Formats: sequence, C-alpha cells, structure tokens
Amino acid sequence: MTDKYFDIMQNRFGDWGECLTINDFMLKIRKDLTENGFLKDNSRLVFSVCPDDVNRIEEVDTIEDALTDNYNGEFHLGGLGGYPMGGVSGITAASHHPPDKVDNGTRKDGNMIFFISPHMGIVEQNELLFGKIIRPGQEKLTSSCGAMMGFLSMLEEAGSLENFQIAPDDTYLDPTRIVLHNDLLNNYADRLEQVMSIDDPQKQVVELFKLNYDVVANKGKNMIDAFLEKEKEHFKGNIALISGITVNVPGKDHFVLKDLTYPRK
Ligand SMILES: [Zn+2]
Repeated sequence: MTDKYFDIMQNRFGDWGECLTINDFMLKIRKDLTENGFLKDNSRLVFSVCPDDVNRIEEVDTIEDALTDNYNGEFHLGGLGGYPMGGVSGITAASHHPPDKVDNGTRKDGNMIFFISPHMGIVEQNELLFGKIIRPGQEKLTSSCGAMMGFLSMLEEAGSLENFQIAPDDTYLDPTRIVLHNDLLNNYADRLEQVMSIDDPQKQVVELFKLNYDVVANKGKNMIDAFLEKEKEHFKGNIALISGITVNVPGKDHFVLKDLTYPRK
C-alpha cells in the first residue's frame, strides 16, 4: 500500500529510478534473483549501507530487514553515508563466506548479493522536510543521512568549494569522513557546485542524495571489478548488485531502485 510519502518520493525520484514499497521491492528482486540462480541457500548478502540505526531499528519496517529476512545475515562493507569502506579486502573476505557445495567432487563457490544504498529521510513537520526524520522515542528532528546533511551544511558555511577545508586527521580518528569528503571534493566538484546552486531546499537535498548514490555506487562497482580481476582464479561464484536510495519515512522505508545487475553470472 502506498502513502503520501510514497507519492512525494515518486514525484521527486520517478524520472531517476523505480519507486517501490518494501513489498514490491522484495517481489521484484526475489523474482529476478531466483531466475538468475541466486537463492538463500547459495548466496550471502554484502551490504554497503550507512551505520545509522534507523535503517535496522525494530520499531521501523526497514528495507534492510526485508532483505535479511529473505536472504539471511549480511557482510558489512559500509561506512557513514553508505561509503564502501571495507574495500576490496572486505569483498575478498566476504567471498569466502557464502554457503557452497561440492558437486561431482568439485567445490562450487556460493554467490554474493551486493546491496549498495545511501539513505534519505522525508518527514512532514509543519512543512515537508527532506533529509530529516523523527526517530522512534524522539520528538526532535534529526538528519538522515546525518553524514551527507552535515557535509552540505559545512559546505554552505564555507560558501564555496575553494573555501572548504577538510580538517586533517593524522591519527586516523575519523577515517570515513576523510575518505568520503575527499572523494566528493576531488571527483565530484561539478556536481557539488550544482547542488550548492539550487535554491529550493527540497530539490537541493534530492540532488545531494543522487550524488551520494553516484559516489558510493561508482566506488562499489569499481571495487567489485577490482575484486573480480584480483580473484578471478579463486572466486568461482556469481555476483548480483542491487542499488538505489533508501527513503526513510515515518514508521517504514520506501526504496528508489536504480540498478539491478549482475557483474558476474
Ligand atoms: Zn547515514
């Protein structure tokens, strides 16, 4: 069943990806994964999602819980903003974990199902707010995703990309921030300029999260390619990749599916 937030999401993201309720998302991906031989008993989920608890807290009907209910627990690659901090080493480790089996004396590796997704809140509190939620047990507004909304406000405070200084972290106390901010500033400067130039706050936040998606999805795909190149002699399983934006609305998630592909099958 859809709701007003679904319609708002559809309105904002409908030309970018496929807007789905959790049920419709699961129906679609289960069918596609099954047709391509990816089953619970021969595959392991590999998530690159934000650590933010709203994405798996028990009071909320979440997209992550729907996936783990259907496909068992997940290997985690993700840091703040859904950035795949685990890297190629993490994927290599994950590749040793899927259920496998011996057929005619030969061991057949299990598969990996990647789920790469940043998250963005929408809530109505007097006005419609993008990038915000009210969490279970709270009344105040907080950011979702805090990492990206925090980055946007730091950028606006700096006034321009040239004035934005990434505070150094020589002792590795804040590793995701350094990597995420450097990737954004070094590789997506034009997109950031465009985001900063948007006056409509709703539109600005939507564009910020499309950019967040591109940063983490591109990085994730590059890591999968690098893993396949490095481990081509060793890993014999298949790989599915599901990606999009998780939209946190009151009590549940919706999803904007951008990509459902098979880097190896
Ligand atoms: Zn987050």
